[in-house]
Amino acid sequence: MADPRRRVPATDGVLGTPQVRAAVSRLGRDLVKRVVHSAQQRARTGEIAPEQVVETALSALPEAATGMREVLNATGVLLHTNLGRAPLSDAAVEALRGAAGTTNVELDLGTGRRGPRGASVVEALLDAVPAAEAAHVVNNGAAALALAATALAQGREIVLSRGEMVEIGDGFRIPELLCSTGARLREVGTTNRVRPADYADAVGPDTGFLLKVHPSNFVITGFAASVPVSELSGLAPPLVADIGSGLLHPHPALPDEPDATTTLADGADLVIASADKLLGGPQAGLLLGRADIVQRLRRHPLARALRCGKLTLAALEATLRGPRTPVAEALRQDQATLLRRAERIAAELTGAGVLARARPSTATVGGGGAPGVELPSAAVALPHGFAGRLRAGRPAVLARIERGECLLDLAALPADRDRTLVAAVGAVA
Ligand SMILES: *Cc1c(COP(=O)(O)O)cnc(C)c1O
Repeated sequence: MADPRRRVPATDGVLGTPQVRAAVSRLGRDLVKRVVHSAQQRARTGEIAPEQVVETALSALPEAATGMREVLNATGVLLHTNLGRAPLSDAAVEALRGAAGTTNVELDLGTGRRGPRGASVVEALLDAVPAAEAAHVVNNGAAALALAATALAQGREIVLSRGEMVEIGDGFRIPELLCSTGARLREVGTTNRVRPADYADAVGPDTGFLLKVHPSNFVITGFAASVPVSELSGLAPPLVADIGSGLLHPHPALPDEPDATTTLADGADLVIASADKLLGGPQAGLLLGRADIVQRLRRHPLARALRCGKLTLAALEATLRGPRTPVAEALRQDQATLLRRAERIAAELTGAGVLARARPSTATVGGGGAPGVELPSAAVALPHGFAGRLRAGRPAVLARIERGECLLDLAALPADRDRTLVAAVGAVA
């Protein structure tokens, strides 16, 4: 009998088999070759038979050329930062495909000349918020703040209430970002109380702008007072409002959440917001307001470093122009409908021998928005041990652990994913 090592198939032979060729076109030659080499090595050491090289390589190949894959959001947190915040609408996904190749992001197709980057997105923003004279889009909310602080207050002062010196998450502190631009903070008031006169006293020749920051993820209750935008607009320097989660108009279900239209009507000169929070779009930072201020931001050298790519611009425009976003849909659902979905899923799982039970639950907005707002929801309760297995499954499912149970909350999960969810649970039962 010949040495089995001599029967290990050659790399070119393995790469030439139809299934492996298909994998090469999906994943690229280098990645597939590495996996094939490792299967050949296992055959040489006798760990697998030479005939098993192709199947071993195929089963070791990743599904996609990226480690990022779909995770079903069963946490009941509508905007989960670790899951990429807002899921995009079908219209936005379609726009991503359209822009993925070469596209007219900086070309005026009428004249054939170079045009302003993302002009149609700015138009869509201004159509959505007529109260804004001009708009500009950057990489995210933090970039929008950094641009405003650099262009309007570098070497000067930003007047900010001590009660609005916010940490958003993952150690991101707005005051530290502001100081990193070379602006100085002029703190006014105390942690719990600030008055209009505190701001007025702080304003002087060194003032770059007054800043209002929405305390996105906490509330101060008790002996507390803050100054609304409307009471600050009379003071001379520009008034910048970081509203956080990006509502363009008031939302009936979220009465305490600030929105761009109202904030501008109240007298803010510039509004800053994130597009991937309640607006339900891709990650981007929105700057809306006075034309002369937006023009200064757009012309600043830093703007180039903070600009977003064609994919973001395409998805953002489709979000603004297109149908209701998944986030907006999620905010509209009523508990009875969610409970019916939970009961259907629980019944199917019970039929498959899984210990599952539907029950009411409470969802939250998340993403640093609407703190304290409870959204009536429904969930499927499973035994605790499911959580880890679901997370490792395909597609992965992120559940919520509550009082020793693994809860699959349906508030953040589009109804068209219910079947996938049932299959994912069944696969790890
Ligand atoms: C979320 C948030 C930010 C940061 O926005 P990113 O888009 O995450 O960079 C800034 N300010 C407020 C008030 C926020 O809620």
